Amino acid sequence: MAPYEIRVIGDPVLKQTAAKVDDIDGKLVRIVDGMIETMYAAPGLGLAAPQVGIQKQLFVWDLQDGAGPKAIVNPRIVESDGEWAYEEGCLSVPGLSWEIVRPNHVHVVGVDLDGNDVEYEASELEGRMFQHELDHLNGVLLVERLDEDQAKAAKRQVRDLMLGFGAERRDPSPGLSLR
Ligand code: ZN
Repeated sequence: MAPYEIRVIGDPVLKQTAAKVDDIDGKLVRIVDGMIETMYAAPGLGLAAPQVGIQKQLFVWDLQDGAGPKAIVNPRIVESDGEWAYEEGCLSVPGLSWEIVRPNHVHVVGVDLDGNDVEYEASELEGRMFQHELDHLNGVLLVERLDEDQAKAAKRQVRDLMLGFGAERRDPSPGLSLR
């Protein structure tokens, strides 16, 4: 069983700005290990700390390109250009996806788990992942990236999704909890 529960839309933790990481210590490394395990179990290509209720500027990813899992701390986008439409989903908005236009190319800087400065020049899927996970660190979900028509059409779906999770949480039957 995955070490963390993935928070879903409606959970206030997903709307907050995560705090900058001051110390990369053993505790943080254990959090990252747990996040990677949770990401694989989901499964997903990326997972940001707020999605497991941890308000830190940190995310993990594995684009399944053979590079293995990676983590970045205190990331930020220093440059972006181009435009790319891509059908985007989110583990915190399960079952739904939308074609969203964002910059294609991003230059991301941050720190790795050894405290070294790292930077990535990323396009297409990798560039999209960085932008999506960085949004999570700023309390932004992909539903806030929809255009007007998409947002209108998505309203009911998102509401039903939130009600569904609410109902699950209210389930009073003892001993039947899935968690
Ligand atoms: Zn997401």
